[in-house]
Amino acid sequence: MLGPPSLDFDVQFVKGVGPRGAKQLAKLGVRTARDLLYRLPRRYVDRSSVPPIAEARPGEAATVRGRVVHFETRRARSGMVILTAVLDDGTGTIQLTWFNQPWISRKLEGYQGEAIAYGAVRAEGWTLTMQGPEFELVDDPEDAADFARIVPVYPLAEGVPQGLVRKAVRGAVERLADSVADPLPADLRRRYGLRPLGWCLRNVHFPPTLEDAAAARDRMAFEELLHLQLRLALRRAETLREAGIAFPIAAMGERLWEEIRRMLPFELTGAQRRVIGEILRDMESPHPMNRLVQGDVGSGKTAVAASAMLAAVRAGYQAALMAPTEILAEQHYNNLRRYLDPLGIHVTLMVGKLTKRQKERARNLAATGQTHVAVGTHALVQEDVGFDRLGLAVIDEQPRFGVLQRAALRGKGFGNPDVLVMTATPIPRTLTMALYGDLDVSVLDELPPGRRPVKTHWKRPDQRPQVYQGVRELIARGSQAYIVCPMVSESEKMQAQAAEELHRHLSEEVFPDLRVGLLHGQMKAKQKEDVMEAFRRGDLDILVSTTVIEVGVDVPNASVMVIEDANRFGLSQLHQLRGRVGRGAHQSFCILVADAGTEDARQRMEAMVSTNDGFRIAEIDLRLRGPGELCGTRQSGNLDLEVADLIRDAHLLERAREAAAEIVAMDPGLERPEHAGLAEGVRKLDPVRAAIVQS
Ligand code: ADP
Ligand code: MG
Repeated sequence: MLGPPSLDFDVQFVKGVGPRGAKQLAKLGVRTARDLLYRLPRRYVDRSSVPPIAEARPGEAATVRGRVVHFETRRARSGMVILTAVLDDGTGTIQLTWFNQPWISRKLEGYQGEAIAYGAVRAEGWTLTMQGPEFELVDDPEDAADFARIVPVYPLAEGVPQGLVRKAVRGAVERLADSVADPLPADLRRRYGLRPLGWCLRNVHFPPTLEDAAAARDRMAFEELLHLQLRLALRRAETLREAGIAFPIAAMGERLWEEIRRMLPFELTGAQRRVIGEILRDMESPHPMNRLVQGDVGSGKTAVAASAMLAAVRAGYQAALMAPTEILAEQHYNNLRRYLDPLGIHVTLMVGKLTKRQKERARNLAATGQTHVAVGTHALVQEDVGFDRLGLAVIDEQPRFGVLQRAALRGKGFGNPDVLVMTATPIPRTLTMALYGDLDVSVLDELPPGRRPVKTHWKRPDQRPQVYQGVRELIARGSQAYIVCPMVSESEKMQAQAAEELHRHLSEEVFPDLRVGLLHGQMKAKQKEDVMEAFRRGDLDILVSTTVIEVGVDVPNASVMVIEDANRFGLSQLHQLRGRVGRGAHQSFCILVADAGTEDARQRMEAMVSTNDGFRIAEIDLRLRGPGELCGTRQSGNLDLEVADLIRDAHLLERAREAAAEIVAMDPGLERPEHAGLAEGVRKLDPVRAAIVQS
């Protein structure tokens, strides 16, 4: 028996397309009927009710309709061809202008019927105008079918006419909408109040009302998000079936907690205690742990990691901690040694800059089990590194690592080690679900006591003298300061030069009497280390730095940070930078020196001034920049959504996640016949996944 038609056939076989049309559509990335139908309209033109021209308001976008009463082509002295047309609908006239678009001239020359135009309305004197509007001829036979309806407007590419896309979509909808197989099982659709796919295809492209279009779009977005969430839920279910290490936590009982207390020089916060508890429960379970700890900068993730590592070591295993930079790896190494050495636990550092002999020694210590804890950069996941009994892998500041490193570190383990990912980049809940839906999440939502929130001020460049005076006064009272060099270039080398120049200016001209150090990415590891150490010891008053200090650096006595040309930084990055201060007992300050510049820059500065809450900041950032950039290019592929939009569709994502959990609980292999469509949808996501893992 023949099943319902699939959408995966060559688009040239859609009525009205043919080989020539297919070639044009390929420019839009459309190869199959599915590609065509899942490429939704950018917007709609409601031709059923176009307001009179007399009601068009300058400054607003509008659709207008009228008879073409005038048309002319002019060649300016510059050689530019200027086309002007005037539409008249009886209530008023509007002038349309295009530059260098000869094909419009071909359509309009000699045409005296009605035309529809869409664009931003402007007023030039008494005349209403639109520049470069989208337009269509009402009498054009190609568009006749769309007369007096709500008409879809598709995103286009050079040389692909709107009419072709509309015709192709119409052909595909007519042929498929009534018979297409729906990937969502009927029962699920009923419970979640979703329309059948066929109805949606028809209504998203050719809606009788805009409400129908919205309902259809939402259902298609839900479908896409469901596939994404199913993939994560399946992966999660898989780890739950795998055998991992069951650390005998209960057997250690109170003794373990006592040792944790003795190890740390401070009392744990309630949040730290709760999160350590969650981690220990995962470690005790016979399945591999896959947990993400989210905590704002300064929330004390290191102590949490140290506690988990202590538990692993006491159970007879090794632990590893991977950090994104050498500076951070060393800082962790120093902290962990301070905590763990007194307990007789051996800690080793593994970073790229070690000499060959040192590396060999470190590798040997890890392979033979003589070291209990290895701390390093991605040097830890190099091929020649092996462990005797690696039971716990901790990954700090995950956004810098790909999925690949996570897997690589796990691969070094003894059987299936537990994995703990820690991130200081708070991520809005929607993104956490979309990116890390396969992980359990713990949130450190409490800062250690005695911290005073950082006070943030926004100053204009001409106020620099006062800013520097303020820095001077704080230093006189025993504080230290960071001055962050603006981002000027993608090139590390040019960035380093800019930092050197700023350092020269500040140390020679502004603060000649103070001790001013310099830190940038082009310095040798040893130099960087010496500078950091000098700053930590208090031998420097001011550290001029590029964003090398962005993540994790911890010098509690530094209580002021000046960020030069702060408008050049993204919001999350500014927040990360600010996290370097406010770690000690002093009141701390963050001074953003920036022009108002763009509207976007203004919003970023105001967000920084108005809140210290990393989650709030992340949400604003998500709104300003979109999800791809927020997570760095590596992860953006993960979020290559065709229909859904993580900001707009947060509620759909929640429901998709819920539905995915139900489905996987019921049918963990997606093997039931009614789930075949879903299984297919999940399989289709995998090329994307593969691309990320390879990057
Ligand atoms: P992050 O979460 O940014 O990695 P860290 O682990 O570097 O934070 O901790 C930031 C600072 O707070 C460190 O100086 C650390 O010693 C201190 N700290 C962590 N937890 C506590 C606590 N419970 N009480 C007091 N200070 C703490
Ligand atoms: Mg940290």
